[in-house]
Amino acid sequence: MFKIKTNDAEQTEKIGAQLAPILEPNDVLLLDGNLGAGKTTFTKGLAKGLGIKRYVKSPTFTIIHEYHEGRMPLYHMDVYRLEDGGGDDLGWDEYFFGGGVSVIEWSQYIRDYLPDDYLKLKIARNDDDDDQRILTFEPQGQHYEELVAQLKEVLE
Ligand code: ADP
Ligand code: MG
Repeated sequence: MFKIKTNDAEQTEKIGAQLAPILEPNDVLLLDGNLGAGKTTFTKGLAKGLGIKRYVKSPTFTIIHEYHEGRMPLYHMDVYRLEDGGGDDLGWDEYFFGGGVSVIEWSQYIRDYLPDDYLKLKIARNDDDDDQRILTFEPQGQHYEELVAQLKEVLE
């Protein structure tokens, strides 16, 4: 587990951009945090770090946005709308094992379809400071433990 504090949106974006170069095809990143925590903000930075120039916005109404112009594909998913109907398998594995990076907002709603190993990032607000966030990286599995160790080196 690795925790880091950010004091504004730009800092959160930058950490996303710094994570991007150490990601590999088929990496899966789960973004947890309430509405407005900064999940999409983080994803914007990650996309930039992959070399994606298209504007990244929340895919809330389409569930999945795919970006193919970067170092590898980015599959950005926001499954919030599946809250009541997450029981159906919409072919998630084709994304998770599709050779790109999958970033999933509100992943708890597709809990049953997630791979065994993943990197979870929890973003939490600070009630006393509107612009402060605590980012907690929680790796699941050996590959992601190594990835977090690398990220730690880059950020410290
Ligand atoms: P989510 O996708 O989690 O719902 P967004 O990334 O869409 O959240 O929105 C986060 C909002 O919080 C943005 O308006 C952003 O500018 C603002 N913000 C303020 N401080 C931070 C911070 N430290 N990190 C990320 N976002 C921040
Ligand atoms: Mg969002």
